[in-house]
Amino acid sequence: MTSVDGELFLWPIITDEDLAAIEEVVRNRAMSRSDITKQFEQEYADWNGVKYALGTCNGTAALAEAFWACGIGAGDEVIAPSLTYWASVAPAVSFGASVNFADVETETYCIDPDDIEHRISPRTKAIVAVNYSSMPADWDRILPIARKHNLYVIEDNSHAHGSMYKGRMCGSFGDVAAASMMTGKSFAVGEAGILTTNDRVLYERCIAFGHYERTGLPSLYNPADAQVHQGDLTPFSGLPMGGVKHRMNQTCSAMARVQLKHYPARIAEIQKAMNYFCDAIETIPGLRAIRMTGEDSGNGGWYVAKCAYDSAAFCGVSCVEFCEALAAEGVHVRAGANNPLHLHNFFHKLDLFQQGKPTVLAFGQCDTRQGTGTLPVTEKASEKLFNLPWFKHFEPTKIDPYIEVFRKIAANVSELK
Ligand SMILES: *Cc1c(COP(=O)(O)O)cnc(C)c1O
Repeated sequence: MTSVDGELFLWPIITDEDLAAIEEVVRNRAMSRSDITKQFEQEYADWNGVKYALGTCNGTAALAEAFWACGIGAGDEVIAPSLTYWASVAPAVSFGASVNFADVETETYCIDPDDIEHRISPRTKAIVAVNYSSMPADWDRILPIARKHNLYVIEDNSHAHGSMYKGRMCGSFGDVAAASMMTGKSFAVGEAGILTTNDRVLYERCIAFGHYERTGLPSLYNPADAQVHQGDLTPFSGLPMGGVKHRMNQTCSAMARVQLKHYPARIAEIQKAMNYFCDAIETIPGLRAIRMTGEDSGNGGWYVAKCAYDSAAFCGVSCVEFCEALAAEGVHVRAGANNPLHLHNFFHKLDLFQQGKPTVLAFGQCDTRQGTGTLPVTEKASEKLFNLPWFKHFEPTKIDPYIEVFRKIAANVSELK
C-alpha cells in the first residue's frame, strides 16, 4: 500500500544473473541459434516431468503447432472452454476447424467435464483444457472422456507453470501442452512459448510445422513426410511445413534457463504467501479463493489467481463495487475475468478464407455457434470473480495490512449500499 510494497508484487524477479546470461547471447551474436534453447528445453522437460519440450517464439505459436500436430484441419471440431484467452482456440479456426464451447464449473472455473460429452460429434478431434488462472483442470475426469472417444487432449498451460494436480505437474496431462512465457505470465521470460509432450510423434510434428534446421532431417515420425519417404529421403528437409518460423529467441531462452533454476523456490514462497492471505480472507463470509488444497496440489506461480465473490453475503454489493471500495483503501485488485469467447464474432462470422461464409461452417462442421445465455457460468464469471493480490514474498507484516483492509471493507459493507 506504500511504494515499498512494490517489491512485494514485482515480477519476474530479475537479477544480475539474468542480465549476464542475456548479455552473453548478445555479445556472441547468438540470438537466432538454437543451442541455448535446446539446453533450456531439456531442463524444462525434466522439471515438468515430460520427455520433450520445444521452445517457440510465443504461446500462440506453440498452440498453433499443437493443433496442427494433432491433425486439426478443415472441417474438424474441437471442444474448449470459452472462459480463456483467444489463443487457446483461435488456431483451430485458422486451420479451418470450428470450436464447440463448453461451460466451466464454479469450483475451478476450468472446463466442466459434465458439459463435454454431449458436444462430441463425428467431426470432433480434440478437447482443449485450460488450467485457468493457475487452477488445474479436472484431469481425473477429462482424460477418461478423451480416451473413451479417442480424442486428443490439448492442454493450455499458459496460466499454470508449476501448478500441481494430485502430485503431478500441469503441462504433463494433455497429449500435448502449450504454454506462453510472455512477460506477464508466471514463468516470464519475454516473448516466448513452450510445448511439452511425452509423445515423440507429436513432438516431431510440432518441429516439422514451425522449426527448421533443428534435426537436419525431415521427421521420420511425421505421417506427411512418411508418404514420400519411400522414394525420397529428404522430402521436406529445410522447410517448415506450416510455412511459419516459430523459433525461440535465445536472449529469452538464456534468461529462461536462469529463471527456471530459481523458479521452484520462488513459487514455493508465492504459495506460502498466497495461502497465508487466502486462509485469512476466507474467514470473511462470501469470499472463496479459487485454489488447490492438499499436500500434493497447488497453484504453482498463482498467475491471476482468483477469488469467488458472493454478493448476497455482502448486502447485494457488486463485485466491482467491492473492489472499488478496496481500491479507495489502497488495495488494487481487478474485478472480472476473460470475456466469453463464444459470443465473439470471430467464432460467429469471421470468413478467414473468403468463401462467402463463416469459417466455422465453411468445411461442413456442425453449426455450434452459441449466443447469450448458452454458457451461464462462463457468462457470469466476470460478475463473480476478482483477482487476488499477487504476493511474491512471504512477509506477514507486509501482507497483514491487506488482510485488514479486506476485513474493514467487509465489516462496513452496509455503508456501501
Ligand atoms: C497468454 C496466453 C496465451 C498466448 O500466449 P502468447 O505468448 O501471448 O502468445 C495462450 N493461452 C492463454 C490461456 C494465455 O493466457
